[in-house]
Amino acid sequence: MNVLVVGGAGYIGSHAVRSLGEAGHQVWVYDNLSRGHREAVPAGRLIEGEVGDRDALVEVLTTKRIDAVMHFAAFALVNESVLDPALYYRNNVIAALELLDAMRVADVKRIVFSSTTATYGEPEIVPIAESTPQQPINPYGFTKLVIERALADYAAAYGFGYAALRYFNAAGADPAGGIGEDHDPESHLIPIVLQVALGQRDRITIYGDDYPTADGTCIRDYIHVCDLADAHLKALDRLEPGRGICLNLGTGRGTSVREIIEACRRVSGHPIPETIGPRRAGDPAELVADATRAADELGWRPRFTSIDDIVSTAWAWHRDHPCGYAG
Ligand code: UDP
Repeated sequence: MNVLVVGGAGYIGSHAVRSLGEAGHQVWVYDNLSRGHREAVPAGRLIEGEVGDRDALVEVLTTKRIDAVMHFAAFALVNESVLDPALYYRNNVIAALELLDAMRVADVKRIVFSSTTATYGEPEIVPIAESTPQQPINPYGFTKLVIERALADYAAAYGFGYAALRYFNAAGADPAGGIGEDHDPESHLIPIVLQVALGQRDRITIYGDDYPTADGTCIRDYIHVCDLADAHLKALDRLEPGRGICLNLGTGRGTSVREIIEACRRVSGHPIPETIGPRRAGDPAELVADATRAADELGWRPRFTSIDDIVSTAWAWHRDHPCGYAG
């Protein structure tokens, strides 16, 4: 297929681009490089543009004879979405709707959409199945839910075939090297802990150790970015006109903040000092996926099931690229 990967210069998108290429698809990356990296895109495959630029998108979809779109280009930081919701509504909702409209105009009706655990809010029951009510507690989660709803309506009315993939915590890097996680500023746990290991930060601050969990720190489901990429490929193969699937992507196994820090110590061999700070607003105690539906629908199972293996791939990236794509 000819696949347009919108946001393909970002962390998860660049891994999907690599997997698509390896599977023999013709891949084009559409990205404005506001948060992505030119170096993450294979040579000659980058088209610079804005997601909100419907005319430019129609032109690309048409001239490149695109069969399907993967949409990764969104802002994805909870705290930032609380402080600047306008940014999130503009980018994650208005621009995304322009993309969907461009697809209608160009008669491209297959899309794999990056959704998130944040659409569930603070679920009472863990592990979280797709049937869990979606009640986001921050603008980020809400903007993603809006597009999920739009996709359901576009499937019914216009015959779109879509997959909304609800990621848990993306982690790691392609073991083959060359691409990895590089956010500025970095806010995610594993990269920050590994930056402490590299001596780039003094210590890791644990955001709260008084949660109702075994060791008092938050539990998350860390899913390897290559496993996410693999799920996108499998979802692409199963898109059907007029039908949508919403799938959780996680390992089904929870890891606490303390366990992540311990894994980073084991893997890096560095002591990694820690300190306890206050809770971060909006952090639920425990988010773990029930990913049974993805296994049933896609035949997808994560290959990286050990947290040390996941952290090892992240460590290889950060050790070899201490300044990310800048060196
Ligand atoms: N976290 C932490 N210290 C940090 C960054 C994150 O204790 O410097 C915790 C955070 O409170 C959450 C977990 O690590 O419980 C994962 O946070 P991250 O921002 O990586 O992902 P999120 O779960 O917010 O998508």
